[in-house]
Amino acid sequence: MHIDDRELDMGWNFDNSYIHLPKKLYTRQGPIPVPLPKLVAFNKPLAEFLGLNVNVLQEDSGVAILAGNKIPKGSISIAQAYAGHQFGYFTMLGDGRALLLGEQITPKGERFDIQLKGSGRTAYSRGGDGRAALGPMLREYIISEALHGLGIPTSRSLGVVTTGETIEREETLPGAILTRVASSHIRVGTFQYISAYGNVEELRQLVEYTLQRHFSDITSGEDRYLSLLREVIKRQARLIARWQLVGFIHGVMNTDNMAISGEAIDFGPCAFMDTYDPKTVFSSIDRNGRYAYENQPPIAAWNLARFAETLLPLLHDDEDRAIEIANEEIADFHDIYRKLWLDGMRGKLGIFGREPEDESIIHGLLDIMQAYDVDFTNTFRALTMGKLCGTEFFDSKDFVKWKDGWKTRLNKQRRPKEESEQLMRGNNPAIIPRNHRVEEVLEAAEKQNDYEPMHRFVRALSDPYAYSVGQEEYTELPSPSKIPYRTFCGT
Ligand code: AMP
Ligand code: MG
Repeated sequence: MHIDDRELDMGWNFDNSYIHLPKKLYTRQGPIPVPLPKLVAFNKPLAEFLGLNVNVLQEDSGVAILAGNKIPKGSISIAQAYAGHQFGYFTMLGDGRALLLGEQITPKGERFDIQLKGSGRTAYSRGGDGRAALGPMLREYIISEALHGLGIPTSRSLGVVTTGETIEREETLPGAILTRVASSHIRVGTFQYISAYGNVEELRQLVEYTLQRHFSDITSGEDRYLSLLREVIKRQARLIARWQLVGFIHGVMNTDNMAISGEAIDFGPCAFMDTYDPKTVFSSIDRNGRYAYENQPPIAAWNLARFAETLLPLLHDDEDRAIEIANEEIADFHDIYRKLWLDGMRGKLGIFGREPEDESIIHGLLDIMQAYDVDFTNTFRALTMGKLCGTEFFDSKDFVKWKDGWKTRLNKQRRPKEESEQLMRGNNPAIIPRNHRVEEVLEAAEKQNDYEPMHRFVRALSDPYAYSVGQEEYTELPSPSKIPYRTFCGT
């Protein structure tokens, strides 16, 4: 059968609404073909969800599309333009090594961007080669699926193909392309770009498009632009609270890596915190700890202020008044975030309702966890499982005293004990993608061409709240020689 005929069965159902935005927001461009594409990771549940045919997509004709060797029917591929503050400095950016194939409309009528990452040079590549290395693409695959399993809004990964090419970084590495799926790739940086290089009419078009695509609840009667700002702030507060509650460190929270949809995106050098320490930083390029664990909430507020600035011309005709309005909204971020985080911490401790002593119970635990250098995830896992003895930490006077206060609070609750345990299980993952495990499965894939450990790992991570026996091997801590852990952008 001819490839084109197979394509009909593949399930692609593209719309390309982004191209109706002002032309300066994108460049039309095709992917650069690669010599020898090979599918090494494929996300069947996601493919099914998107309405794609999982069998046909894994055949040569399907892989050709995931490799950028063939453009599927209905796709009008573009590189998106955006700007952004990188480590505090404003720069013109854009998809330098990615292309949007279009928006897949699912059988339920939902719309998702299908993006190839590593698909070759574009108008925005600057000095780069437009390519991506296998390791970082597999890493994004693992982490995005882990975040999704944790119930955190995130871009996802449909598959990874190796290209048969090598790319030059500090060493020579195998090239790869990730197919990324996201609600959209509209970033804070997209607004910064149009604000810096466009006019108010173009800004308004981007705003209207964003409202329609992500905030259809905002009605025409409201002050739409203020409502947009408010809603973006809320979603971002929710996202960051979820990160903090599982110890996720994004690693590079530049404004171009913050999606307006409220999904996690572009988490290149990210990693999960093991030992509880608010100052934890893993990324080798984050020398001053700008994006350390404890800084993620204030950095989100800083990024949101950059977003609010772009909306000023729409918030009020009088600029001073517009600034006042924006400032009031940004000032609310902290309270919104804190309330969500506190409620999340209550959930982690099996606490229903809100009592005045809750904050001191929560901080009391975190303080001693930090003093005793204990593992974040495993501590909450042990609390959930009621295994509270046999370690220096759990046998310490400090912990026993804290536990008494906690139990007193729990005993005050009318709800049955089982419900409280259930609440904890739903809020404390038994497993996270531990750094040494991520490295281990990446090494097997990259060096031995053995993808089985990665597939097994991804399967386990898809249900992190299962508390199954099979997950136990993934709860083990790294040997001391694997600490401190460093991540590299490795682009
Ligand atoms: P990232 O660190 O992946 O968020 O990328 C930051 C910016 O650099 C984006 O505009 C990317 O498109 C661009 N970029 C990263 N790697 C490459 C590459 N290998 N070739 C061209 N552009 C790149
Ligand atoms: Mg980025």
